[in-house]
Amino acid sequence: MERKDVLAKNKWKIEDIYSSDDVWEKTYDELFNSIEFSHYAGKLGNKETLLKFFKETDEFGKVLERLAVYAHMRHDEDTRISKYQAYNAKIGALYSKFSTEIAFFDSEMAKLDENYLNSLVLDKDFSDYDYQIKTIIKRKPHVISEEQEKLIALAGETLDTFYETFGMIDNADLPLPEIEYNGKNVKLSHGLYGIILHADDREKRKEAYEKYYKAYISLINTLTSTYHGNVKKGVFLSKAYKYDSSLERALLNEDVDKIVYDNLLNCVNDNLDSLRRYISDRKKILGYDKMYFYDTYVSLVEDAELKLEYNEAYEYMINGLAPLGKDYQDLLRKGYAEGWIDVEETDGKRSGAYSIGCNGTHPFVLLNYKPNMNNMFTIAHEMGHALHTYFSSKNQPYAKADYKIFVAEVASTVNEVLLLKHMLANAKDENLKKYLLNYYLDTIRLTLHRQTMFAEFEYEAHSMVERGEPLTKENLCQVYGDIGKKYYGSDIEHDYNISCEWMRIPHFYRAFYVYKYATGIISAMNIVNKILKEGEPAVKNYFKFLSSGSSSDPVSLLKLAGVDLTTKEPFDLAMREFEETLNEFEKLMGI
Ligand SMILES: [Zn+2]
Repeated sequence: MERKDVLAKNKWKIEDIYSSDDVWEKTYDELFNSIEFSHYAGKLGNKETLLKFFKETDEFGKVLERLAVYAHMRHDEDTRISKYQAYNAKIGALYSKFSTEIAFFDSEMAKLDENYLNSLVLDKDFSDYDYQIKTIIKRKPHVISEEQEKLIALAGETLDTFYETFGMIDNADLPLPEIEYNGKNVKLSHGLYGIILHADDREKRKEAYEKYYKAYISLINTLTSTYHGNVKKGVFLSKAYKYDSSLERALLNEDVDKIVYDNLLNCVNDNLDSLRRYISDRKKILGYDKMYFYDTYVSLVEDAELKLEYNEAYEYMINGLAPLGKDYQDLLRKGYAEGWIDVEETDGKRSGAYSIGCNGTHPFVLLNYKPNMNNMFTIAHEMGHALHTYFSSKNQPYAKADYKIFVAEVASTVNEVLLLKHMLANAKDENLKKYLLNYYLDTIRLTLHRQTMFAEFEYEAHSMVERGEPLTKENLCQVYGDIGKKYYGSDIEHDYNISCEWMRIPHFYRAFYVYKYATGIISAMNIVNKILKEGEPAVKNYFKFLSSGSSSDPVSLLKLAGVDLTTKEPFDLAMREFEETLNEFEKLMGI
């Protein structure tokens, strides 16, 4: 389908940002020529000057954001159009000029007297910036000299090589062979591997699994070296910035207390029985003597697809999210009617789905809608992001509107879980019920258990290097394999391939990132629980969280919604919910 053939009501109203490309270009030129911040260098110790700097860079940032979002969205509407590719390149140049111009800020602020910084936190003129200044104070012990900072900046590109090399291998050089698929010989790809692993043809799954891992294992020495290099990089940076460990550095960057990380690992480990039981159920239902990892993605219940057209799916979702109240539902309707959402798949359009925010206007959502259940969950997911952005922008000043990655997946998952529970409560068809329970179990397993397992592995790998032990292909596979055995138990075959899985996980090149997926779904499950149990008071608290942007550290913001990740309670609740879902599933399946 061509973009011009899409009904206006199914296209996002990008003109709510800029009425035309001409306006964009004019605004861009004006902004580019107005960059002038370096004269503030050396003067931030004066309150008036500092406040002026904050306000001016805010105003600059607002326009820059609008320009960037417009360029990004235009490009995604049809990625083949070179005009918008050029727009994005221009945005890159603008960002880089801006960041060079304000490069002095971080180091100068960090060196300012602590009493002065503390006085700013209490000063109501600086209330838009209090949290930002608090984090500067927190990081003070990790400030290094200007000379050292320069040296690390110079080394920066070199330090990124491990990640880039992995990317090159994973996207270009990995020797993936051909596989027969739908009667044709095609090259095995990451996408096709995923499709085959979810499909019923077991022989094909086995073939794809073996071929896929064979390709990675053929590069095991290289991939050991790139991963080892990346871990050493993290350890080097944590030492350079005077942290006790690379984990401590990663957690402070996100402003999250280590107790949260420990609670996650401890609670998941204390409750692995139910995960192993689910794996064992899988083997029984599939009826295999031996079950392999290529058997863990296929659905255990035959398709109970709900094939709704976009408008029906949207209405269904609004009903499903009724526990969030009428105001929330009205906003969902507003988004539908007022051009927030780009619905249809068209030629050249970017694939997948996302939500994007922009100060001064409503959020936007990109979809490529297909009438199936997964896509209905995608609408709920992306509208969760969109309304989180909406509430935070509305209630916070620009400087605090953007929420942190740690909480980014909470609102989207709340919507998914609420919708799923609505469907479960209303499912008349037993098969649909089974399907939904299986869907929920797999979602929790992949977002909570699997990501925690990853977190445990990367923690161990970093600890080994910190203790001065080398990372070899043997000990990496041993560590990964042992953790896998502990998580999944003995009802699945732990072959050599699966002990090599660490080699193919791109997120391992962003150390200590994956645990946030687990804490995100745990927080969401707790919020949904409170909303369904307590009703309006819990919804009110949840709205406080949605409206909080980055006004404080993310763990404190979640407390607004009644989730305290510094205690074990929310983790235990999530674990219990997995177990109860499993009990119900077993009962329906007659196990
Ligand atoms: Zn998301």
